Amino acid sequence: MNSPARILFMHDYVIIGGGIVGLATAMAVGNKHPMASILVLEKEQDLAQHQSGRNSGVIHSGIYYKPGSLKARFSREGNRSMIEFCREHGIKHDVCGKVIVATKPWELPSLESLFQRALAHGLSIARLGPEQVQEIEPHVRCLGGVSVPSTGIVNYRQVCAKYVELIKSQGGTVQTGTRVDGLRKGNGTQVIETSHGEFEARFVINCAGLFSDRVARFESLDAGAKIVPFRGEYYQLVPERRYLVKSLVYPVPNPCFPFLGVHFTRMINESVHAGPNAVLAFKREGYRKTDINCADLLETLTFPGFWKLASKHYRDGIMEMVRSVSKRTFVKGLQELIPEVTEDDLIPTHSGVRAQALMADGKLVDDFLIVNGENSIHVCNAPSPAATASLEIGRFIANQVPEVTSARQVRRFCLAN
Ligand SMILES: Cc1cc2nc3c(=O)[nH]c(=O)nc-3n(C[C@H](O)[C@H](O)[C@H](O)COP(=O)(O)OP(=O)(O)OC[C@H]3O[C@@H](n4cnc5c(N)ncnc54)[C@H](O)[C@@H]3O)c2cc1C
Repeated sequence: MNSPARILFMHDYVIIGGGIVGLATAMAVGNKHPMASILVLEKEQDLAQHQSGRNSGVIHSGIYYKPGSLKARFSREGNRSMIEFCREHGIKHDVCGKVIVATKPWELPSLESLFQRALAHGLSIARLGPEQVQEIEPHVRCLGGVSVPSTGIVNYRQVCAKYVELIKSQGGTVQTGTRVDGLRKGNGTQVIETSHGEFEARFVINCAGLFSDRVARFESLDAGAKIVPFRGEYYQLVPERRYLVKSLVYPVPNPCFPFLGVHFTRMINESVHAGPNAVLAFKREGYRKTDINCADLLETLTFPGFWKLASKHYRDGIMEMVRSVSKRTFVKGLQELIPEVTEDDLIPTHSGVRAQALMADGKLVDDFLIVNGENSIHVCNAPSPAATASLEIGRFIANQVPEVTSARQVRRFCLAN
């Protein structure tokens, strides 16, 4: 019996993953190498269906990140480039600013360190007394705050849609509904095995988000970290109580887990979201509490790094789980910022799952992690603020990739046997 024809399509650069990082990378590589043929492969039928379409929509300022880190650099520059991009392409956004507030006396020193760090980053910010906070956010009760005027809001799905338009206008191709199942060496190239046949690329860029570690393993690349999925659940204020929040209200972050601590975010569509919390997801793309994938869960539970993290921070973990099942506890956290908020004011809304890389010693990979393979680059950790920083991450990768011989015309090999 004849086996079906295997068709290899040759491209210069293939990007795996149609989230905001993959799309920004495709665009940047296209800008840098205008004659190259570029293909984005996305497993879903539509783009930005995971982290990039399920986030808080904040254009971060870069205040939180360690000086000298990629996160600090890319978010600061990314804040400017994202706002500029939205202006240039008519994408609705609002540079509404945010306040970070201390509600307990012991948070004041951390707020001060944050203020000093922001100054060191060269950010324009202001220290605020409780009354000054109330001039900006009349319903917030606190002991002091910091205002960060450069923070903005946008819908990142709209940003992704614009990236796609630009990739296509450069001559690139974005192919959805095509899952990458394997990589193998070709003749100086990479052969990409997918649910829709095989493709050949001179260079591959892995931007697979929640699956980036698995895609890296297709090439036997060990980045020293595994993706552990943390679900973030949100509530939203009922429309008649939206007036309680003018823009963005954040607590002072926990330095170990800056993503912990529920906050209020005005979205670009005028709704006001509260959250997210952070609980272990039992499925990499598990958006409901009941979503379980045995293989995903087993992979997490058999990873020594997970248990090291859990044994060190089990109190935070339990608190987040309680917040997930008890609306009362979730609301209590919010009432520390705005005491007037009640359970009746909040209804559940979407959730997102963060792709957080965790090392075998139980430490979270704090910075963006971009690793070189053979004829490949793998984005192994791109958590928040990677949406804000996407244009910068894309440019950074485009500057790393080698120039490969242009193959403007897609070649087709039929290897029937
Ligand atoms: C709850 C939450 C709130 C956040 N809030 C903010 C915020 O306010 N501001 C901010 O800047 N950042 C925020 N972030 C972070 C930001 O959303 C992510 O850092 C960013 O979206 C990561 O983009 P990505 O392209 O790497 O991943 P993704 O958007 O997850 O994209 C990866 C893509 O790869 C595809 N894929 C995976 N495996 C395969 C395969 N084998 N074959 C083909 N395709 C594959 C997936 O289907 C997916 O579309 C938040 C994240 C979460 C989860």
